[in-house]
Amino acid sequence: MDIKVENFYFSYNDKSILENINLEFKRGNMYALLGRNGSGKTTLIKLILGLLKFKRGSITIEGKNSYDIPIKDLSRLIAYVPQNEEAIYGIKVIELVVMGRNPYLNLFDMPSCKEYELARKALENLGIEHLMQKSYSEISGGERQLVLIARALVQNTKFILMDEPISNLDIRNQHEVLEKIKNIARDFNIGIVLSIHDPNLAMRYCNQAILLKDGKVLHSGKTEEILCQQSLLQVYDMKFEVLNSKNGINFVSL
Ligand code: ADP
Repeated sequence: MDIKVENFYFSYNDKSILENINLEFKRGNMYALLGRNGSGKTTLIKLILGLLKFKRGSITIEGKNSYDIPIKDLSRLIAYVPQNEEAIYGIKVIELVVMGRNPYLNLFDMPSCKEYELARKALENLGIEHLMQKSYSEISGGERQLVLIARALVQNTKFILMDEPISNLDIRNQHEVLEKIKNIARDFNIGIVLSIHDPNLAMRYCNQAILLKDGKVLHSGKTEEILCQQSLLQVYDMKFEVLNSKNGINFVSL
C-alpha cells in the first residue's frame, strides 16, 4: 500500500500554500518532513488525512482517490498524531487512548476488555503505563504527546502521520520515542510521516526526507543523500556544515 500525492495545489482563500506537490509514501519507511515554520508541513498532513478539502491535484491511497474512501475506512488506514489536542475535560488517559479503537466499533458499541488491553499495552510500550488513570488535562505537554502517539498505535493502521510529535519531549524521550517509532515502522511495516525540526534527528531515525520551502518540495529522497550543506542552505537560508560521525551517521553543525 502507498499514498500518492500528484500534481497537487492548495490555497487558503487566494493565498497559495502548496504548489505542484508530487510525493509517494510507502509502508515500512520513515519520512521526515522538514521546512521552516509556515512552509506547509501541517497543511500537507491535514490534506492527506482528509481534514482539509482541495480542488487541484489528487491524493490516492492504495490506488483509490482519497475522496472516495469513507472516513471510517480511512481511519483504519491512516492514524494522526496532532501537535496538540484539547481533549474532553477530565477524560482519563486510558479512555483517550482506547478511542483509537473507534474505527473498529459500531456507533453505540462500548470498547471491550480486549480494546482496553490494547490501549494499556500501547501505553506500556511507550513507558507511560503509570499515567493510565490520570486526567489527560493534568499531565505535561510531553506526556500528552506520548499519549497521542499511543492512541495512534492502537488504531492499528498502515500509516501514521505525526505533526511535530517530539517537540515537547525532553532530549532522552525524543531519542527513545523516535527509536520506538522506527522499530514499529520496521516490525509492523507501517509508513510513518513526521514533521520534525531537528535535521540531526531526521538523519538518525528517518530513512527518507522531504524538504519543503514556501509550499514547494525542494528535495525528496533518501535522507543521507538529500540532507547536505547545499539543500540546508536552500531551505533555511543559513550555512551549515554536514559532518561525518564515527558511527557513520552524518550530523549537522553550524
Ligand atoms: P508549517 O506546518 O510548515 O509550519 P503550515 O502548514 O501550518 O506550515 O502553514 C502554511 C501556511 O498556511 C502559512 O503561511 C500559514 O500562515 C498558512 N495557514 C495555515 N493555516 C491557515 C488557515 N486556517 N487559514 C489561512 N492560512 C493558514
